[in-house]
Amino acid sequence: MGVTGSIGRQTLEVLRRSDRFELVAVSAGRRVEDLVAVVEEFRVARVGVPDETTAFAVRERLGSSVEVLVGASGLAELSRGADVVVNAVVGFAGLPVTLATLEAGSRLALANKESLIAAAPLVEAVRTTPGAQIWPVDSEHCALHQCLVGSSDSEGRPDVERLWITASGGPFRGYSRDQLAAVTREGALAHPTWQMGPKITVDSSTLMNKGLEVLEASALFHVGVDRIGVVVHPQSIVHSLVEYVDGSVLAQLSAPDMRLAIAYCLGAPERLAQHWGQMDFTRAFQLEFEPPDRLNFPALDLAYECARRAGAAPAWLSAANEIAVEAFLNGVLAWREIVPLVARVLDQYEDRALESVEQLIEEDAQARALAHGNLPS
Ligand code: MG
Repeated sequence: MGVTGSIGRQTLEVLRRSDRFELVAVSAGRRVEDLVAVVEEFRVARVGVPDETTAFAVRERLGSSVEVLVGASGLAELSRGADVVVNAVVGFAGLPVTLATLEAGSRLALANKESLIAAAPLVEAVRTTPGAQIWPVDSEHCALHQCLVGSSDSEGRPDVERLWITASGGPFRGYSRDQLAAVTREGALAHPTWQMGPKITVDSSTLMNKGLEVLEASALFHVGVDRIGVVVHPQSIVHSLVEYVDGSVLAQLSAPDMRLAIAYCLGAPERLAQHWGQMDFTRAFQLEFEPPDRLNFPALDLAYECARRAGAAPAWLSAANEIAVEAFLNGVLAWREIVPLVARVLDQYEDRALESVEQLIEEDAQARALAHGNLPS
């Protein structure tokens, strides 16, 4: 789901190198030509699109040979019809995919962290469906998953001391307050080590992505955020680490390449022999680690605070951030105002439990409206 985006296209590259899979359904936003090309290449029978206009355009190009489903209910319907679903939809819109896949008792290869973060209590409820599994595509969580093999999930992983999530530090690592005040859209979109979509690339520049990943790891692995640390690692070779109670630390290494994580999630429990992100130990190289700059990158502590508040706070964080990043990408908001805007929205949040999808949709809309109201006019 989300086949024309960055993760979607890389998933197709993994599929092209394997004969183990049949692509039965895809969804996309409004890139009709890209979607049609995928359907024709992989002979896909079912397609999901966001609205009737796009559906009309797709039907006109492909005729009655494919079934076209529309909107969130279409996404959910498609997600119920596969053994493995890759959720690469951007943002909160990926929620129906996450919930429907788990409710159907299938394997969810999750690249859409927002749905898990915003809806953690609701996702937790459907994860107990027999057969339902979440395999994380997010590179840090995929690394943690690999390092946690053999660790017990019962009672909050008693053998684990701490999870360490690595951060590249983004394009503005080491910048002073003054330098950060002058950063541009182009600067924020130039990630030093990873090629990704624009939303997550901006999130990496503010460290909000890392904050969201702390929440994601906590929900995925049932480890409290006070046992999850962030360490800056500019080379993006070590994708995350697990520190065990005996002092031993396990790390997962590769050159930065999302296709490795995608292949891991698709092939499991076996590994696909595809060699993505292969390391070269025959030449010299260095790995560096340093603590994050929490003063100039306040998104990190804001995310920890939301994790401790739980309930609907993570949903508000994620929703307000989506609006702030969109405003930044549209030239409406300065980079240094992204995180303060999210913080102002959260100032208006009062603690409450998150109990239903209907409530979550309301919470999401409320946080978005407040974020819009806080944008400069
Ligand atoms: Mg990541």
